Amino acid sequence: MSGMKTKASGQMRSSGTKSRAEKGKLAVQARIGLAHGSGGLEMLGLIKRLGINFRGRWKNCLNDSATLACCGKMLFFTSDSYVVEPVFFPGGDIGCLAVYGTINDLAVMGARPIGISLSLVIEEGMTEKALMRIISSIRKASKLTGVPVATGDTKVVERGRIGSLMINTSGLGLGSKGAVLDGKAVPGDSVIVSGGIGEHSVAVLSKRFGYSSRLKSDSKPLIDEIEAVRNLIKSAKDITRGGLASCLNEIADSSSAGFLIDELRIPSRKEVRKVAGMLGVSPYELACEGRFACVAPKKNSEKVVARLKRFNSQACKIGEVVRGRGVIMQGLLGKRRLDYPSGRLVPRIC
Ligand code: MG
Repeated sequence: MSGMKTKASGQMRSSGTKSRAEKGKLAVQARIGLAHGSGGLEMLGLIKRLGINFRGRWKNCLNDSATLACCGKMLFFTSDSYVVEPVFFPGGDIGCLAVYGTINDLAVMGARPIGISLSLVIEEGMTEKALMRIISSIRKASKLTGVPVATGDTKVVERGRIGSLMINTSGLGLGSKGAVLDGKAVPGDSVIVSGGIGEHSVAVLSKRFGYSSRLKSDSKPLIDEIEAVRNLIKSAKDITRGGLASCLNEIADSSSAGFLIDELRIPSRKEVRKVAGMLGVSPYELACEGRFACVAPKKNSEKVVARLKRFNSQACKIGEVVRGRGVIMQGLLGKRRLDYPSGRLVPRIC
């Protein structure tokens, strides 16, 4: 899919010698590709071009949750859409994924989630049994996290339009004014991940392509893990679309800092690396749905890791904040840049 983007960009670039009318025609021909939804460079470019900057008093609008100081409290607000295919996969389904994903976007910003909305877009022909199974999963996820589904909507579209079901959720959270986890990373801080990466993507892909795998999705709520370390960390971000590569770059960019990551410390199961190799994608670009990366002052890092290990034995420090910009990875063969992913990654993974 990077080809589509490259081609579109190429058309735009080569238009320097063309007339204004021809340029306009070429601009109109630019189309959205799957790469624009993959959580990498193309998506960031599209969001920038769309110019959605009518944000009023809301802050952190490009972060996991937007925040608004209101009545002496901090209000957190997020929204997400779920298009995973297939809708049932090892370790979960689109229903619990939607609940946890929305709650996690609130939790990593320091919020206490207080309610979500649930909008279902159902394709004509989906069985009621399958839909009931997903609603049951949503009910369980809501009960487990104590976060109610406060409101919602249901639409049905013609057969062949979307492939059974898509879900949109929005989430509201509350916190004190000092609760927002948006502290700046400075050189010397530690970069920590909460567990092995890529398991969600591999679980979904194994089901989609029909190969056997023992891996299950890592989809789960992160409320308790964040709560365990919230007073020890500066910022956190869940590792979703674009994988660890996007996640680390976004945290580093938001602090105008650089990260030096030790590749050998990045936790991932052998099977994740094997499947990534088969697909020709980097394991660092595979989405998770129950993992996060965080930045902590060096003096707190051992305590943060120890607390996170109670939830996942693979939690560990993977690097540190350094002077400069971007994410540099130290591997066996030397240093290289870990950039934002680019091109079509693995679509419909979340
Ligand atoms: Mg997020």
